[in-house]
Amino acid sequence: MARAGLLIRGARLVFPSGVRDGDCLVREGKIAALGEVKAPGTRVLDADGRYLAPGFLDLHVHGGAGADFADGDPEAAQAIVRFHAGHGTTGLLATIASAPVERMRKAIAALAGVPGILGVHLEGPFLNPEKAGALDPEGFLPPSREAFRKLVAGFETEVRVVTFAPELPGALDLVAEIQGIGAVPAIGHTAATYEQASVALRHGAHHVTHLGNAMGGLHHRGPGCVGAALLSAASLELICDGVHVHPAFVHLVVEFLRGRGDLHRLCLVTDATSAAGMPDGRWRFANREVRLQHGEVRLADGTLAGSALTLDRAIRNAIRFANLPLEDALSLVTANPAHVLGIGGERGALAVGATADLVLLDPDLTVGATLRAGEIIFSHNLF
Ligand SMILES: [Zn+2]
Repeated sequence: MARAGLLIRGARLVFPSGVRDGDCLVREGKIAALGEVKAPGTRVLDADGRYLAPGFLDLHVHGGAGADFADGDPEAAQAIVRFHAGHGTTGLLATIASAPVERMRKAIAALAGVPGILGVHLEGPFLNPEKAGALDPEGFLPPSREAFRKLVAGFETEVRVVTFAPELPGALDLVAEIQGIGAVPAIGHTAATYEQASVALRHGAHHVTHLGNAMGGLHHRGPGCVGAALLSAASLELICDGVHVHPAFVHLVVEFLRGRGDLHRLCLVTDATSAAGMPDGRWRFANREVRLQHGEVRLADGTLAGSALTLDRAIRNAIRFANLPLEDALSLVTANPAHVLGIGGERGALAVGATADLVLLDPDLTVGATLRAGEIIFSHNLF
């Protein structure tokens, strides 16, 4: 079907510069033309005035639909990807929470060849137990080059982001190791002071894992990791569910970045767990029991344990919390994460030649259909 071509007609095309009416021709998995397109004999999908945007990219996903990437099960991995595709996500980083090294490696091995998985985000194990959040500190390791090499051996091309706590002794040695496999050194689950975080961000770390969560807050006498992150050039993850960070915090971050012309640094992530898309009750997160209630996922002691968020809802929240125009909100889940992964222009872009990972959105920004490489992988009463 994608080979023969597909014309999505009558859409409202969402570009970073704004929304324009037009059509989108897909051929051989790529966007072949945009604007007013004539392609006789091509199969036509009528968008009926819906928004057409690049598919969403999520840098931080643990699970969904009852499954967790930590299960180390290829079918579970496919179920997670399918669930998030129903919410517009066409590419994600399977995020493996800190665990004993062999268990993390088994989880990575199970992801091979699952379409829609763009790589792996290792959330640990070189993290600070003081800021474990819902992760099990049992598996945390002191930073060392040898331990890192053992962890990623054979998976150097899969691992794309590695979160570590920069204040731990030897942590900065990890930066060169992480860069050495072409991955993004990210700081998180950290008790770093403003000064410690600033040093790491000047020495090659250039991504901050769920800004505001599992790190000290922004205090006027101790601006901490949040202060250092904002004043750096790093890309920033934000869990925009209205629970992990206050809506006004989202607004503050957006206003600050916009004022600097730096909104391109912000990426919305879900940090979704197996509870996402499931009814209230008990679920699992990285081998621990968690409870989903009122849209919040927590350990028995009340600690937030990932989320039940999806990216379509994160976008709607961002628009509401920070008065963002649609095209800016969509950049937070398309162009910006693509740039972090070094695949800007090829993914997360509505551009001729880009991979035809696309999402059709209803006027209320719920997902009508999702296409990956030109193939419809999700449709809600549409086609
Ligand atoms: Zn996480």
